[in-house]
Amino acid sequence: SSGVVLKDITKIFQQPDTGKDFVAVDHINLNIQDGEMVTLLGPSGCGKTTTLRMISGFEYPTSGSVFIGERDVAKVPPNKRGISMVFQSYALFPHLNIWENVAYGLKVEKLPQDEIVRRTNAVMELMQLTGMERRFPNQLSGGQQQRVALARAVVIEPSVLLFDEPLSNLDAKLRESMRDELRALQKRLGITSLYVTHDQSEAMAISDRVVIMKDGVICQQGSPTEIYEQPGSRFVANFIGKANFIDGTFRGMDGESALVEVNGHTFPIPAPGRMEGVRKDGPCCLTVRPESVLLSEEEGPLPGVISRATYYGAKVEYEVMLGDQPIIVEVYNPQLTRRFAEGDRVHMTLVDRCVRVLA
Ligand code: ADP
Ligand code: MG
Repeated sequence: SSGVVLKDITKIFQQPDTGKDFVAVDHINLNIQDGEMVTLLGPSGCGKTTTLRMISGFEYPTSGSVFIGERDVAKVPPNKRGISMVFQSYALFPHLNIWENVAYGLKVEKLPQDEIVRRTNAVMELMQLTGMERRFPNQLSGGQQQRVALARAVVIEPSVLLFDEPLSNLDAKLRESMRDELRALQKRLGITSLYVTHDQSEAMAISDRVVIMKDGVICQQGSPTEIYEQPGSRFVANFIGKANFIDGTFRGMDGESALVEVNGHTFPIPAPGRMEGVRKDGPCCLTVRPESVLLSEEEGPLPGVISRATYYGAKVEYEVMLGDQPIIVEVYNPQLTRRFAEGDRVHMTLVDRCVRVLA
C-alpha cells in the first residue's frame, strides 16, 4: 500500500456544445496517507469523478501532479499505477462466471496458473463468495455482484483502491450493510483508499477523513467528528447533517468565548470555532445542530412558538418559530420528555459548547 498526493491539480474541459472552457477541478491539493480511507463528498457535478480519474490515469490533469507512493505518475498508464477501481455499475463481464471474473486481472498479468488459482480462491473466501464460482453475474443479487466487483479489485493486491459511488445502486438496508463490510475489509487489508460519494451519512460512516468539495474546490476536510462539530461554513454545516442558523451580531471576545447578541440578549459562546470573516459589531450567525437545542416552558432569552411537531419514534422533530426564523429542534427519547404541540409557547436553550459562530 502507498499514499497518494495531489499537487495543485486542475482539470479544464472544453464544453462540447459551446467550445468554452470549464474548470471541473480547480487547484486541488490533497494528501492521502498510506492505509488511510478518505472520502470525497460533494454535490453532483462538483468534480469528484474527475479527481478520481486523474489518479487512475483515465484523465490527465491540465496542470499539477499526481504522486502514488513517491512516484510522479504523469507518464504511467492506468494499468501500471497499482490501482483498482470499483464502480457503481460493477462492470462485471457478463459472459464470464464469477471465478473467471475475479481471476481476470491475474490472467492479464500472465501469472502462473497455480498462483492465479491460489489468490482467486483466497479472495473468493475473503469476500464470502465461495460456492458461487460457476454462477454468472446475472444470477447474483446486487449485493453479491458488488462483492464480486470488490473481489476483482482487491485480487491484484493494488496499492490504492478507488471507489466511485459503489453502493448507489443498492437499496438502503443493503447499502448500509455493504458499507460496513467494505469499511471492515479496507481496515483489515490496510489499502489506501479514496471513496467518492454524494451521500453524507455514507461518508461519515466509512471514512478516516472526509474531504468536502464544491464547484471544483475543496472547501473543508477533517475527521467525520471535526466536519460535523466544526463546520467552517454554512455550506458545510448544511451539507453534513442538519443545521440551524440564528442571525446575530458579533460583539467581541471575552477570553475564549465569543459574545454574540441575538434578540437583544448577549450569549457567550465558549467554543465558537474559527469565525472566518466575522467582524466586530458585524453580522454573524450562531450555528447549532437540531439535537443541541433544548426546549422548556421556563422563561428565557429565546422564546418561540411550535409551528410543527413530527413524531419519528426515536425522536420528535419540532419546528419552532423564533420571530420569523424557523429553528429545527430534535428531541430524543420522546417517552421521557415533555411533548409539545403546534401553537405551544416554548423557550429554547442552546447547548453552548455545541454552538459555532459563522459569518
Ligand atoms: P461529480 O463526479 O462530482 O458528479 P464530475 O467530476 O463527473 O462530477 O464532473 C464535474 C464537471 O465536469 C461536471 O460539470 C461535468 O459536466 C464536467 N465534465 C466531466 N467530464 C467532462 C468531459 N469529458 N467533457 C466536458 N465536461 C466534463
Ligand atoms: Mg461522479
